[in-house]
Amino acid sequence: MPRQYPIEKTRNIGIIAHIDAGKTTVSERVLFYTGVSHKIGEVHTGDTVMDWMEQERERGITITSAATTCFWTPTYRAHDKTHEHRINLIDTPGHIDFTVEVKRSLRVLDGAVVVFDGVAGVEPQSETNWRYADEYRVPRICFINKLDRMGASFVKSFQSIKDRLTQDAIPAQLPIGLESDFKGVVDLLANKAFSFEGEHGEAITEIPIPEEMKGEVEAARRALIERIAENDDETMAAYLDGKEIDLATLRRVLRKAVIGNKIVPVLCGSALKNKGVQFMLDAVIEYLPAPTDLPPVKGHDPKTGAEIERTASDEEPFSALAFKIATDPYVGSLAFFRNYSGVVKRGTYVYNATKGAQERVGRIVRMHANDREEVEEIYAGEIAAIVGLKDTTTGDTLCDPDRRIVLEKITFPEPVIGIRIEPKTKADQEKMGTALHRLAEEDPTFRVAGDPDTGETIISGMGELHLEIIVDRMKREFGVEANVGRPQVAYKETIMGEAEAEGKYIRQSGGRGQYGHVWLRVKPLERGTGFVFLNEIKGGVIPQEFIPATEKGVKEALDKGILAHYPVTDVEVTLYDGSFHEVDSSEAAFKIAGSIAFQEAAKRAKPVILEPIMKIQVLVPPDFMGEVTGNLNAKRGRIEGLSDRPGLKVIDAQVPLSEMFGYATELRSASQGRGSFTMEFDHYEPAPANVAQLIIEGKKR
Ligand code: GDP
Repeated sequence: MPRQYPIEKTRNIGIIAHIDAGKTTVSERVLFYTGVSHKIGEVHTGDTVMDWMEQERERGITITSAATTCFWTPTYRAHDKTHEHRINLIDTPGHIDFTVEVKRSLRVLDGAVVVFDGVAGVEPQSETNWRYADEYRVPRICFINKLDRMGASFVKSFQSIKDRLTQDAIPAQLPIGLESDFKGVVDLLANKAFSFEGEHGEAITEIPIPEEMKGEVEAARRALIERIAENDDETMAAYLDGKEIDLATLRRVLRKAVIGNKIVPVLCGSALKNKGVQFMLDAVIEYLPAPTDLPPVKGHDPKTGAEIERTASDEEPFSALAFKIATDPYVGSLAFFRNYSGVVKRGTYVYNATKGAQERVGRIVRMHANDREEVEEIYAGEIAAIVGLKDTTTGDTLCDPDRRIVLEKITFPEPVIGIRIEPKTKADQEKMGTALHRLAEEDPTFRVAGDPDTGETIISGMGELHLEIIVDRMKREFGVEANVGRPQVAYKETIMGEAEAEGKYIRQSGGRGQYGHVWLRVKPLERGTGFVFLNEIKGGVIPQEFIPATEKGVKEALDKGILAHYPVTDVEVTLYDGSFHEVDSSEAAFKIAGSIAFQEAAKRAKPVILEPIMKIQVLVPPDFMGEVTGNLNAKRGRIEGLSDRPGLKVIDAQVPLSEMFGYATELRSASQGRGSFTMEFDHYEPAPANVAQLIIEGKKR
């Protein structure tokens, strides 16, 4: 089947929002209106559509799908189907514990709609996500939602975007009325006013610009046109000459500026009251990029390491990034992927360049709001899911087996919080292993490990809520009941010095003996490097076959830790000498020798405990500043910066995670409930001696 939609008519977008700003409601409306527009002529009775919406809400699958495909024809094209576009809506979660999810969606989407609560304006989480979007240079439009709510203010919300997020924001619409009088919007470029009639706001009706708004509209329109003109010399010249610039030109130049991250248009509405969402969709088509508007994706040749680029074209060799593995109750494991270049066909083989494995493309599915569509092939710039991949996990590159490439990786932070988890019954025990394994496959920031001493299972992740949700999913999706302990900080261990040590495992009394003997050197590595094993054995002092076994022994010792059973990281281990016995040497003996030697060497190399340090930002009214900073100091926090926001002080600090349990409550009482904060993992660093002692004695969680 040939391409249904030219790549220029494809948009891969995400809706980003603070929890409660209305992301779910906006997404529902998007799927509703796009469903209606796509089916115009087929489904006509309001009832059918409504039923569909109710059903969807009950099933709730649409919004949680990693990517949902829908279709939209801009309203200003009067729904002329030749202008129909395909929109792939990529799910982005709102809570801080899921920043990694936000990051991975940002990696594969081309543009974003950022939704704000029209009463609260910019909230802390919006700032974090905004900075991530800056990092990935994602073009954005803003949608100020909930203008029907009591206390809603477009002006204040817009100002908070300008003050706290970007000076590039500019209104592209103005609301007509507010709160219970909120009726519609003025489109500043078109210089027209609209209201949303009908049960679901589906009948967009042009109305006169209210008399009392005329001055305000004129000023805002001029400001917008001027900002647009700044991005194009010809338009600027025309503007300065006082010429009327036609709408098509304004839209074209604005599109270029949004894609170039120079302007962020701000729209508004009320998703709940069915106002404004269709124009937001128009703006997605009009101003957010198609895959072809963006620079080629970069990667490297897995053999030579040479940098390679792939442009978004069907003619290029196939390259794609798997960005989410999901378990679907009907089809099993789905690998959602973004196709960057080329075409992938059902039944063919692709190469997983990250894992070095061939994979068969069993089936390809596209997820829609109310069904899933099996397709034969997926073209460049699109998003879909492959069923039945065996070795592929999140972040892997899939490519043409003959034209291999590894795309830039999505980097995931290390888990910083762990809890012990214990199955409630024997039956739960068996299922728990499978469940945790499945969940870990889906989520690269979630880990499962066994405590080497007690045999208990420890799960670790990005935050308390992250782990709560995992435990909850285990119960709901896999029927496993478990008891969990208190959250613990995921400490690590490392060494600060160099040392050498010998490891011998020799048993030679009666029967077949055991003989393993190695000398190891350990050295600290830069933070975040992990583990490096070097083999400097020469002249067969130890036969090649025993070297991997030695490395395995070292790895096991790393996992056990030196001081307090936390995993050892950032070390280089060199195997440089040893001996063997013709008959008695075995892999098992060398494994034990490797483990003994590492433990010995590490003990002599100034071992230390590493603790996770979090980056936090606290917002408080100036009156509470002293108390809040005092409290942070008492938590071994380092204040890194103080700045001002209208009516607020902003404190940037770094604080050890172990001191942050229960901080939300403390901050509330230190600021009479008026402070707020965000927190994210920053780095690991050695814990001070007195703290390390408490950790070793098990007195600090
Ligand atoms: P999410 O957490 O960002 O997904 O937000 P939801 O879509 O679940 O919305 C949070 C709450 O705000 C819900 O109670 C919604 O009904 C409500 N809400 C969403 N949009 C609007 C709106 O435009 N106006 C009003 N008044 N409430 C809204």
